[in-house]
Amino acid sequence: MIWNEKFETMSDDEMADFQLEKLKETTAWVYDRLPFYKRKLDEKGVHPDDIKDLSDLGKLPFTVKTDLRDNYPFGLCAVPMTEVVRVHASSGTTGKPITGPYTAADLDQWADCMARNFYAAGVGPEDIFQNAYGMGLFTGGLGFHQAASKIGCTIVPASSGMTERQVTLIQDFGATSIGCTPSYALTIAEKARDMGVDLRELPLRVGIFGAEPWTEEMRREIEERMGINAHEAYGLTELMGPGVSFDCEAKDGLHVNEDHIMAEVIDPITEEVLPHGTQGELIFTAIQRRAMPMIRYRTRDITTLRREKCACGRTLVKMDKIYGRSDDMLIISGVNVFPSQIEAILLEVPEVEPQYVLIIRKKGYLDALSVDVEARPEVYDLGEEKLKEIEKKIVDKIRGTVGIGVAVRLVPPKSIERSEGKAKRVFDARNM
Ligand code: ADP
Ligand code: ZN
Repeated sequence: MIWNEKFETMSDDEMADFQLEKLKETTAWVYDRLPFYKRKLDEKGVHPDDIKDLSDLGKLPFTVKTDLRDNYPFGLCAVPMTEVVRVHASSGTTGKPITGPYTAADLDQWADCMARNFYAAGVGPEDIFQNAYGMGLFTGGLGFHQAASKIGCTIVPASSGMTERQVTLIQDFGATSIGCTPSYALTIAEKARDMGVDLRELPLRVGIFGAEPWTEEMRREIEERMGINAHEAYGLTELMGPGVSFDCEAKDGLHVNEDHIMAEVIDPITEEVLPHGTQGELIFTAIQRRAMPMIRYRTRDITTLRREKCACGRTLVKMDKIYGRSDDMLIISGVNVFPSQIEAILLEVPEVEPQYVLIIRKKGYLDALSVDVEARPEVYDLGEEKLKEIEKKIVDKIRGTVGIGVAVRLVPPKSIERSEGKAKRVFDARNM
């Protein structure tokens, strides 16, 4: 199912023409209205009139997270507050939160982008959608809500948390689809099992999961445990929230809503734009938003772009599943490691649960990595000797695949805190 035939299947040439027009408009829009962007463009010696070709995007300055923090709360809002109809904010675990103001038209476009996500996952007007993304300032809850309203499915606005009730609601209301973070999906699946409910026998058939990194291995795990088809949503508060990109039935990368958000990948060190197919930091330019357009925002998310014929018929450019955030990259014995690499290995080990945490410690001048992963209950009961054997097997697997030595500890079942939203899986104990 395709929600917006026109834009989702537009030819590359038409898309390029459309983007150029919108890019010109947006650059002039921010230049004329926001002293922040005027100064940045002036400093680079570029004027909105200099944009004549899509490649001129590369002449524009980058915007970074600290720019948003420095302009907290509404310094980057390009319309009067009377035109702002809603404000969202990111979790802001580090420092001040990032705010996202929207005009009524921005909200409508956002819903359109998210509706594409629903249709691509095969969720339509006939479906009952349980929304277990956190409702509130977080863009996930309302972002999914308004798109589900737009496509006309039956919404169960459960929000996140109260997991036992989530399971009961799925059962009682007959949800056919669910949305939440992948880690919360695992929590729900586990709770259902504890309650003696087999989700696989219920009408639930699709999940749309996002807001945090997860591997293909995790996708398969969730699909198996819930008996569903697990699809993906990607986005960030700075660029509206979920709806930036989504996967389709091909489950091979995520289509970027590039008529709204242009994507580039750069080398994070040299800031040079990289060709498609090369991994680097994802950069987004929001070319249709009015309250908070964004020029070349550095996401710190690591991926690769590709433009190819997709089995689903969409022509929208694709990004690979996010490898990780550059902030989460660990350097262990001189080797760059992403938590996703460890996750992929752990999920292939049949004796453990998909519940783990990574702890970075100091070992002399170097950083060392410890992996705590839960043993399956029946495995944990087999005794210490067996656990040691499995730990060693995991250590060897990680050394063989990632090339680093780690300490692995099998911990008791249910000893790792369960996630209700974005899972925290990396702990820095270097200063402890
Ligand atoms: P915060 O930065 O506080 O987590 P956001 O909710 O805006 O606030 O989070 C956006 C970030 O979440 C993205 O930049 C990305 O790192 C991560 N994210 C969102 N969706 C996905 C996804 N499908 N896969 C991987 N990472 C994701
Ligand atoms: Zn596709």
